[in-house]
Amino acid sequence: MTTLQTLKKLVPYVMPYKWLVIATLVLTLIGSCAAQVNAIVLNYTVDAINALVEAGKGLAEGLDIMMLICVVLLTKELLTVALTFGQRFFGEKMRISISQDLSEAVIVKMLTYKLAFYSRDGNEPGKLQTRINRGVDSLTRMVQNFFIDILPLFVSAILAIVLMFKQNVWVGLTALCIVPIYFWITYKQAAKLKGWREMHKTYYEAKSHGIMNIIESINVIKSFNRESIEGEKQLSLLKKITDNQMKTRKTAFAFDGLKTFVEQIGVVLIIILTAYLVLSGQMTIGAIMYHIMLFGNVSAPIRQLHRIYDDWNDALIYAGGYFDIMNSDHEKEISGNYRPEKVKGKLELRGVDFTYPNGTKALHNINMTIESGKITALLGLSGAGKSTIVHLLDKFYDPDCGQVLLDGVDLREWDTKYLRDHIGLVLQKNHIFDGTIEENIRYGNPTATDEEVIEAAKKAYLYEQVSALPKGFKSKATELSGGQQQRVAIARMFIKNPPIIFLDEPTASLDAIATEQIKNSIDAIKKDRTVIIISHSLSQIIDSETIYSLEKGRVMEHGTHEECYDMNGVYRKIFDASARSLNIEKIVKTMD
Ligand code: ADP
Repeated sequence: MTTLQTLKKLVPYVMPYKWLVIATLVLTLIGSCAAQVNAIVLNYTVDAINALVEAGKGLAEGLDIMMLICVVLLTKELLTVALTFGQRFFGEKMRISISQDLSEAVIVKMLTYKLAFYSRDGNEPGKLQTRINRGVDSLTRMVQNFFIDILPLFVSAILAIVLMFKQNVWVGLTALCIVPIYFWITYKQAAKLKGWREMHKTYYEAKSHGIMNIIESINVIKSFNRESIEGEKQLSLLKKITDNQMKTRKTAFAFDGLKTFVEQIGVVLIIILTAYLVLSGQMTIGAIMYHIMLFGNVSAPIRQLHRIYDDWNDALIYAGGYFDIMNSDHEKEISGNYRPEKVKGKLELRGVDFTYPNGTKALHNINMTIESGKITALLGLSGAGKSTIVHLLDKFYDPDCGQVLLDGVDLREWDTKYLRDHIGLVLQKNHIFDGTIEENIRYGNPTATDEEVIEAAKKAYLYEQVSALPKGFKSKATELSGGQQQRVAIARMFIKNPPIIFLDEPTASLDAIATEQIKNSIDAIKKDRTVIIISHSLSQIIDSETIYSLEKGRVMEHGTHEECYDMNGVYRKIFDASARSLNIEKIVKTMD
């Protein structure tokens, strides 16, 4: 993104604070005038004292001048303190408010995006997080640089140059000549560093993602004793980051040296020129100090230029990432406006193909009917496409071709929020939010009463265990066991009370006792609803009224348990294997 494009995009975020901007600018202007006072006072002092000395006068005559200087300088300092405070305070208020608005805007926007956005390459959690944080930081710094740093410095520099020109055109021209040279060197420096800076951004995102990955997989890493391998992976990335940073620094230092040299040439030229003008009687002696100080006001912002330029370039790089997220409007979930009074719950997939954003084709020509109020099971080996079907039925993704229908109406025509209000999803590992058990259950319906929460917990066979806890429903939900957390998720479903429920391997990560306990809760929630269950548990499959068996994204068989079994295909293969793995003969013998 170019500077202009970025600034244009920033305008809507700055506009709500236009009064702060105006206040900052006014203070800046006054502050810049005040910044020239020292040079003027010094000029006056040297000339006045010099005149006194030349006239052979002493301390008594000079007292008035000294008093005047004291009063002017102290008043100016007091004014500067007040101005700087006001300018910083307003500037900071604007910066903090804009930072908050930028963060809020991106979160609100991201929440409207389809799941496809989150599963795109490059949008992994760590990378997105870095892009957002850095984007917000850089953009806020851009605002700060512009209103708090650049403007005051440059207004002060322009005023100083104007004053120099007013005294003598040649001195003014000398000071002015240094500026483009300095700009040119800074521009070259930025151009040289740009590629490395972009690389740094990519490495930095990868580093955050890598650290998150380590934390998430720490159990696996430890159990395989792969700490050193993981450490080395990070180390090689860190080395690249260090190399990159060293190259950046080396180049920056070389350019900084060059810029300091140019600045000093400016100072020397000003001294020589003003000394010449004084000696040839065209200026008073005070003018030497006067011009050196004014040139200080010109070179101060220029010295900051590369830092501001660096920040600016960083901001441009990261702003691109930020606005890419903000501008992904094509990722927005599309909602129709179909909201029938009653949702019956008949689901159909007609000739559905589906490909994930990374190019994995997960479903091929799926035709399926899920009858209202009945239990339908999806069976297949891992990767067969069962969860993908659930994703499509929940409108998390749109099919490549074909149709997904609920009660005969294409999901695209349904109001997405309304649709999801009527669908419940229980996953293998349900997300338990940081909060109490009560809050987690109430997530299913924020307006539910305490009695409704208790009722839901009872139906999910959770009430007694939770009541026995010292803090009851106010206990932290994250401290519950896996089985108990799963029941919190089921209680959440009871309180939501949707007519359609998807159970995606709800007992897969649980032990036998927890599975048995949860079976009761699941059986309770299945009643009078359209249920799709994905499970490896034979008991849950056999109980289903219709079974669809899938292989490599295709439906292979469907029918009742007996019908599918007789087809002698995928279903039978999986069923027999599951039964054998249970060692039924021995189990039966033991039970006898
Ligand atoms: P199942 O639920 O039967 O185990 P899935 O529906 O999860 O199978 O996966 C079907 C195929 O889609 C697999 O090849 C899997 O690797 C792929 N897949 C699943 N989720 C994603 C995703 N978010 N992005 C890309 N590919 C995916």
